[in-house]
Amino acid sequence: MGGEAAVQCSAAGCRERAAWRVNWRNPRLHTPDRVKVWLACDAHRDHLEGYLGSRGFPVVVTPADVVADVVPDPA
Ligand SMILES: [Zn+2]
Repeated sequence: MGGEAAVQCSAAGCRERAAWRVNWRNPRLHTPDRVKVWLACDAHRDHLEGYLGSRGFPVVVTPADVVADVVPDPA
C-alpha cells in the first residue's frame, strides 16, 4: 500500500521516520480549510516550522497520526 513512504520526513535528503505533521497553508493562495502537510522527524520539526513561519505562513504542528482540519490565521 506504500504506507512506509507516507511517514518519511519531508526535509530534503532526510530518510528518518516522521513523528510530526507540519500543517500549513499559503494565505495568499489557500482558504483556511485548505491544509498542506509536510511530515517531519524530531530533528526537522523546528526547521520546517521555522521555514514556513519566516515566510508568514500559518503553521499548526500535530503528532503524525493527528490530522488538522484547518490552519487558522495567526491571532
Ligand atoms: Zn528529518
